[in-house]
Amino acid sequence: MNIPIQELMIPGDKVAHVQVGNNLEHALLVLTKTGYTAIPVLDPTFKLHGLISMTVIMENIFGLERIEFEKLENIKVEEVMNTSIPRLNLHDKLEKGLDLVVNHSFVCVQNAENVFEGIFTRRAILKQLKKRMEQ
Ligand code: AMP
Repeated sequence: MNIPIQELMIPGDKVAHVQVGNNLEHALLVLTKTGYTAIPVLDPTFKLHGLISMTVIMENIFGLERIEFEKLENIKVEEVMNTSIPRLNLHDKLEKGLDLVVNHSFVCVQNAENVFEGIFTRRAILKQLKKRMEQ
Protein backbone atom coordinates (compact mmCIF):
# COMPACT_ATOMS: atom_id res chain seq x y z
CA MET A 1 0.00 0.00 0.00
CA ASN A 2 3.05 2.25 0.33
CA ILE A 3 4.27 1.97 -3.25
CA PRO A 4 4.43 5.49 -4.78
CA ILE A 5 1.93 6.08 -7.59
CA GLN A 6 4.88 7.27 -9.72
CA GLU A 7 6.13 3.66 -9.89
CA LEU A 8 2.78 2.29 -11.04
CA MET A 9 1.48 4.90 -13.47
CA ILE A 10 1.52 4.93 -17.28
CA PRO A 11 3.90 7.85 -18.05
CA GLY A 12 2.50 10.91 -19.82
CA ASP A 13 4.37 10.32 -23.08
CA LYS A 14 2.47 7.03 -23.50
CA VAL A 15 -0.97 8.53 -22.76
CA ALA A 16 -3.26 9.68 -25.58
CA HIS A 17 -4.55 13.21 -24.91
CA VAL A 18 -6.14 16.24 -26.58
CA GLN A 19 -5.47 19.96 -26.20
CA VAL A 20 -7.95 22.45 -24.71
CA GLY A 21 -8.37 24.24 -28.05
CA ASN A 22 -9.03 21.12 -30.14
CA ASN A 23 -12.56 20.64 -31.44
CA LEU A 24 -14.84 17.69 -30.70
CA GLU A 25 -14.21 16.25 -34.16
CA HIS A 26 -10.54 15.81 -33.29
CA ALA A 27 -11.35 14.37 -29.83
CA LEU A 28 -13.79 11.88 -31.36
CA LEU A 29 -11.12 10.81 -33.84
CA VAL A 30 -8.54 10.22 -31.08
CA LEU A 31 -11.03 8.34 -28.86
CA THR A 32 -12.19 6.17 -31.75
CA LYS A 33 -8.69 5.38 -33.03
CA THR A 34 -7.32 4.53 -29.55
CA GLY A 35 -10.45 2.70 -28.36
CA TYR A 36 -10.40 4.57 -25.00
CA THR A 37 -13.61 5.87 -23.40
CA ALA A 38 -12.04 9.04 -21.95
CA ILE A 39 -8.72 10.85 -22.26
CA PRO A 40 -7.02 13.82 -20.52
CA VAL A 41 -7.30 17.40 -21.79
CA LEU A 42 -4.05 19.37 -21.51
CA ASP A 43 -2.89 22.89 -22.40
CA PRO A 44 0.28 23.67 -24.36
CA THR A 45 2.31 23.73 -21.10
CA PHE A 46 1.04 20.19 -20.30
CA LYS A 47 -1.18 21.39 -17.42
CA LEU A 48 -4.17 19.12 -16.76
CA HIS A 49 -7.59 20.79 -17.33
CA GLY A 50 -10.06 17.91 -17.43
CA LEU A 51 -11.23 14.80 -19.26
CA ILE A 52 -13.12 14.41 -22.51
CA SER A 53 -15.20 11.29 -23.01
CA MET A 54 -17.20 9.66 -25.75
CA THR A 55 -20.36 10.11 -23.62
CA VAL A 56 -19.87 13.88 -23.29
CA ILE A 57 -19.26 14.23 -27.03
CA MET A 58 -22.40 12.28 -27.93
CA GLU A 59 -24.51 14.25 -25.41
CA ASN A 60 -23.46 17.47 -27.10
CA ILE A 61 -24.40 16.47 -30.63
CA PHE A 62 -27.75 14.79 -29.96
CA GLY A 63 -30.45 17.00 -31.52
CA LEU A 64 -34.20 16.49 -31.04
CA GLU A 65 -34.58 14.51 -34.23
CA ARG A 66 -31.09 13.47 -35.27
CA ILE A 67 -27.43 13.39 -34.35
CA GLU A 68 -26.01 16.75 -35.45
CA PHE A 69 -22.55 15.70 -36.61
CA GLU A 70 -21.87 19.15 -38.07
CA LYS A 71 -21.63 20.51 -34.49
CA LEU A 72 -18.44 18.49 -33.88
CA GLU A 73 -16.32 21.00 -35.77
CA ASN A 74 -17.60 24.07 -33.89
CA ILE A 75 -17.46 22.95 -30.26
CA LYS A 76 -14.12 23.15 -28.46
CA VAL A 77 -13.07 20.44 -26.02
CA GLU A 78 -12.65 23.03 -23.23
CA GLU A 79 -16.33 24.08 -23.54
CA VAL A 80 -17.72 20.66 -22.65
CA MET A 81 -14.96 18.65 -20.90
CA ASN A 82 -15.44 17.31 -17.39
CA THR A 83 -13.41 19.47 -15.02
CA SER A 84 -14.43 17.94 -11.70
CA ILE A 85 -12.07 15.00 -11.84
CA PRO A 86 -10.07 13.19 -9.18
CA ARG A 87 -6.32 13.80 -9.28
CA LEU A 88 -3.35 12.02 -7.79
CA ASN A 89 0.01 13.55 -6.99
CA LEU A 90 3.22 11.87 -8.11
CA HIS A 91 4.12 11.20 -4.48
CA ASP A 92 0.77 9.79 -3.38
CA LYS A 93 0.76 6.14 -2.40
CA LEU A 94 -1.02 3.11 -3.81
CA GLU A 95 -3.52 3.27 -0.92
CA LYS A 96 -4.93 6.61 -2.13
CA GLY A 97 -4.99 5.40 -5.73
CA LEU A 98 -6.93 2.31 -4.68
CA ASP A 99 -9.63 4.49 -3.08
CA LEU A 100 -10.04 6.52 -6.25
CA VAL A 101 -10.13 3.69 -8.80
CA VAL A 102 -13.13 2.16 -7.03
CA ASN A 103 -15.27 4.74 -8.84
CA HIS A 104 -13.03 5.69 -11.79
CA SER A 105 -11.40 3.37 -14.29
CA PHE A 106 -8.33 5.63 -14.30
CA VAL A 107 -7.09 8.72 -12.46
CA CYS A 108 -4.74 11.41 -13.79
CA VAL A 109 -1.43 11.96 -11.99
CA GLN A 110 0.12 15.44 -11.75
CA ASN A 111 3.09 17.12 -10.08
CA ALA A 112 3.01 19.98 -7.56
CA GLU A 113 2.56 22.52 -10.40
CA ASN A 114 -0.51 20.73 -11.86
CA VAL A 115 1.58 19.47 -14.76
CA PHE A 116 0.28 16.19 -16.15
CA GLU A 117 2.61 13.25 -15.45
CA GLY A 118 0.57 10.20 -16.39
CA ILE A 119 -2.42 8.04 -15.46
CA PHE A 120 -3.04 5.43 -12.81
CA THR A 121 -5.43 2.69 -13.98
CA ARG A 122 -7.46 -0.12 -12.40
CA ARG A 123 -5.34 -2.42 -14.53
CA ALA A 124 -2.21 -1.32 -12.57
CA ILE A 125 -3.89 -2.27 -9.27
CA LEU A 126 -4.99 -5.65 -10.61
CA LYS A 127 -1.49 -6.37 -11.95
CA GLN A 128 -0.03 -5.56 -8.53
CA LEU A 129 -2.59 -7.77 -6.80
CA LYS A 130 -1.91 -10.66 -9.17
CA LYS A 131 1.84 -10.33 -8.59
CA ARG A 132 1.38 -10.42 -4.79
CA MET A 133 -0.96 -13.41 -4.94
CA GLU A 134 1.54 -15.37 -7.01
CA GLN A 135 4.35 -14.74 -4.53
P1 AMP B 1 -7.45 0.08 -18.96
O1 AMP B 1 -7.16 -0.01 -17.50
O2 AMP B 1 -6.27 -0.14 -19.83
O3 AMP B 1 -8.66 -0.71 -19.37
O4 AMP B 1 -7.85 1.60 -19.24
C1 AMP B 1 -8.97 2.21 -18.61
C2 AMP B 1 -9.16 3.58 -19.20
O5 AMP B 1 -7.98 4.36 -18.93
C3 AMP B 1 -9.31 3.63 -20.73
O6 AMP B 1 -10.64 3.47 -21.17
C4 AMP B 1 -8.84 5.03 -21.03
O7 AMP B 1 -9.90 5.96 -20.77
C5 AMP B 1 -7.72 5.22 -20.02
N1 AMP B 1 -6.42 4.85 -20.61
C6 AMP B 1 -5.72 3.71 -20.41
N2 AMP B 1 -4.54 3.72 -21.08
C7 AMP B 1 -4.50 4.91 -21.74
C8 AMP B 1 -3.55 5.55 -22.61
N3 AMP B 1 -2.39 4.97 -22.94
N4 AMP B 1 -3.87 6.78 -23.10
C9 AMP B 1 -5.02 7.38 -22.75
N5 AMP B 1 -5.96 6.85 -21.92
C10 AMP B 1 -5.71 5.64 -21.42
